[in-house]
Amino acid sequence: MTQELGPIQTKLRTNLESINARISGTCRACGRSPNDVRLVAVTKYARWEWVQALAKIHSTFGESRPQQLAERQPQLPRIQWHQIGQIQRNKARLAVQHASVIHSVDSLKLLKRLCLLAEQSDRPVEILLQVNISGERSKSGFDPGVITDSWETIARTAGTHAKLTGLMTMAPIGKISEDARPVFKRLSQLRQQINERDTSPELTELSMGMSSDFDVAIEEGATMIRIGSALFDGLETNEH
Ligand SMILES: *Cc1c(COP(=O)(O)O)cnc(C)c1O
Repeated sequence: MTQELGPIQTKLRTNLESINARISGTCRACGRSPNDVRLVAVTKYARWEWVQALAKIHSTFGESRPQQLAERQPQLPRIQWHQIGQIQRNKARLAVQHASVIHSVDSLKLLKRLCLLAEQSDRPVEILLQVNISGERSKSGFDPGVITDSWETIARTAGTHAKLTGLMTMAPIGKISEDARPVFKRLSQLRQQINERDTSPELTELSMGMSSDFDVAIEEGATMIRIGSALFDGLETNEH
């Protein structure tokens, strides 16, 4: 029996293949393995039917709002869901209940809360600390200096249920992808600085790079890239 792929599925497959080809190409050029870069498909603006279609060909999704994550995750429980956007205090429980990885932990207070919730609900969750490298007021995240100064406290707070595995950042919107390089370089250096200390845990993950700058992020060591618009490119026009 042949199953016909709808136009949505076909477009998504083409977009995904082209992004994966770029990931492989960039990895090859800088001597990294494509297996070391995870593509988090950001579905925050995607219609539900696109998400369902994508779930047939990809298995790691990221949502920005915990409410939408909580609506979608139970319907696609075999997908690994990541929480990538800011978390209000009263939404922390949703994030812990529905995400396997939380990229956007931007304060010690939130970290404490997530750890407590993860322990109470016996749900292990991977935690990345969001760092505001560019220092823009509009961006949330730890100040890099605060991370190094309070590292002992941070490391002590995270536990076995909320496992601290890495750092995340967002580059300022630039004219060209090169503009993001200093920010990605700085995040990579920060991880190295932390890992040189002998206080566990070791940070293995660097979540950085979006549709407009993921090549540069990979060159600077990204292990997770978060891609939305490039993946769903061309879909709106099909619908109208
Ligand atoms: C929306 C979003 C992305 C994806 O951005 P695109 O430019 O659409 O690829 C990545 N990370 C975060 C935190 C986001 O909110």
